[in-house]
Amino acid sequence: MRELITELTYLVAAVLFILGLRSLTRPDKARQGMQFAAVGMLFAVCGTLIHHDIVDYRWIAGGLVLGALIGYPLGMWVPTTALPQRIAISLSFGALASVLVGVSEYYTAFHGGREPLESFRMAALGFEVLLGTLTVFGALIAFGKLQEILPGRPLTFPGQNVANGVMLVVAFVLLVLVVLDPSRTSAFYSMIALAALLGVLMVIPIGGADMPVVVALLNSYCGLAAAATGFALGNSILIISGSLDGASGFLLSILMSKAMNRSFSNVLFGAFGGGGPAAAVGVGTTLPVRSISAEDAAIQLAYASRVIIVPGYGMAVAQAQHQVRELAELIEKRGGEVKYAIHPVAGRMPGHMNVLLAEANVPYDKLYDMDEINGEFPQTDVALVIGANDVVNPAAREDKSSPIYGMPILDVDRAKTVIVLKRGMAAGFAGIENMLFHAPATSMLFGDAKASLSKLVTEVKAA
Ligand code: NDP
Repeated sequence: MRELITELTYLVAAVLFILGLRSLTRPDKARQGMQFAAVGMLFAVCGTLIHHDIVDYRWIAGGLVLGALIGYPLGMWVPTTALPQRIAISLSFGALASVLVGVSEYYTAFHGGREPLESFRMAALGFEVLLGTLTVFGALIAFGKLQEILPGRPLTFPGQNVANGVMLVVAFVLLVLVVLDPSRTSAFYSMIALAALLGVLMVIPIGGADMPVVVALLNSYCGLAAAATGFALGNSILIISGSLDGASGFLLSILMSKAMNRSFSNVLFGAFGGGGPAAAVGVGTTLPVRSISAEDAAIQLAYASRVIIVPGYGMAVAQAQHQVRELAELIEKRGGEVKYAIHPVAGRMPGHMNVLLAEANVPYDKLYDMDEINGEFPQTDVALVIGANDVVNPAAREDKSSPIYGMPILDVDRAKTVIVLKRGMAAGFAGIENMLFHAPATSMLFGDAKASLSKLVTEVKAA
C-alpha cells in the first residue's frame, strides 16, 4: 500500500514538473511554472518520506531543517544579477547528493552485508558517481569564477585539451573495470579522484564570460547524475526529473551558445571571455560623447510617437524595472507607442529581462524578441537603452576583428535617435568599446538607471 502511495505521489510530481517546464516557455506563465515545480518537489519529498526503506527519521529531519535554512536565503535574498553563481553552487549541492548516495550504496554493498551489485546497477552507480563528482568540482570552480573569488580569465597550459581527453578516457576505463568486477574498490575510488580533477581542469580554461553557458551544461550533467541515481536505486521520480533536467540543461547551453554566435565546442575548448566582466579592452576615452540632461531627454520621450525600450544588465543592477514601466505608461498616456526589445542574452542569464519586467507587471505582449523587432528600429523616434551595452554593440555586425563579431544584436543604431542610460563609459561584459555611444544620433544620460528613470518620470509628467 505504502509503495502504491509513493508511486502515485511520484506520478503527480512528474506531471507537475513537466507542466512547470512547459510554463517556463512563456514569461507570463513563468511564475506559475515555478510554483508547479515547487509543489511537484513537495510531492516527491513526501512520497519518499513514506518509503519503507526508511527506519529512522532523525537524520532526515535534520537534513530537512538544514536544507530549508540554506534554501530560503538562497531563494529570497540573492539578487537576480548573482543568479548564475547561485545556480552554480546549488548544482554542486545537487551533484554532491548523487555522489554521496552512490558512494554509500557501493560501500554498504561490500561492508553492510547487502546483496552484491549486479552489472546494470553497478554501471548506473558508477556513472552517477563519475558524473556527479565532475559536476561538484566543475560547479565549484564556476562559482568561484562568477563570484570573482577565482580569476575570471581562462587558465590554460599547453596540451590541456589532450590531457583532459586522456583523463576522461581513463576515468571511463576505470568505470568499465568496476562494472566488470565491482570488488575493484581501488579502481572505484581512483575514478572518483580522477573525476574531481577533471571537473576542475575542464572548467578552468573557460573564461568568465562563457561561465553561464558552462553552468547550463553542468546543470545537464547534474540531471544525468540524478537520473543514473534513479536507475541505481530503482527510483522513478529521480529518473524522470533527472532526464528532464539533463535534456533541458543541454538544450539551454546550445541555445545560449547560438545567441552569442559561438559554436558549442568553441565555448568548451576556446578561451573567449577571458577578460571576464571587469575587463575593458580597447575602451577609448577620447572619442566624442554627447551627454543629455534628464529634462531634454524627457522632452524627446514625451513627444515621440514610437519608442523602443532596450533593457540590459544595468537595468538589473539598478533594479529599475518598476520605473521603466512607469515611464512607459506615461509615454503611452501621451499617445506614444512603447515596445520592449529583448535580446536573448541581455543580462546575465537567459530570460533575465523577461523575469524582471514581468515582476514589474509589464504586459507580456509588449515584449518583442530580437528577430521580431529589429526591422522596426529605422521607424523608431527614440530607442531608450537602459544599461545595455554588448547586445547593442554595432561592432558585432561591422567589425570583423571584434571578439563579439557575428553575435546577433539589437539594431538600436538604426533608430532616429538613441538615448542611453548608463553610469559612465565603462565597457559591458565582453570588455570592448561600443561605437553606438559615440554615434551622432546618440545622447548619453549618465547616472544610475533607477535614479535617471525617476528623474525622467518627473520630467515627462511636467512636460
Ligand atoms: P553588458 O554587460 O554588456 O553592459 C551592461 C552595462 O550596464 C555596462 O556597460 C554598465 O555601464 C551598465 N550599468 C551597470 N550598472 C548600471 C546601473 N546601476 N545603472 C545604469 N547602467 C549600469 O550588458 P548587456 O545586457 O548589454 O549584455 C549582456 C552580456 O552578458 C553579453 O556580453 C552576453 O553575451 C553576456 N552573457 C549573458 C548571458 C545571458 O544568459 N544573459 C550569459 C553569459 C554571458 P556603466 O558601468 O558605465 O554604468
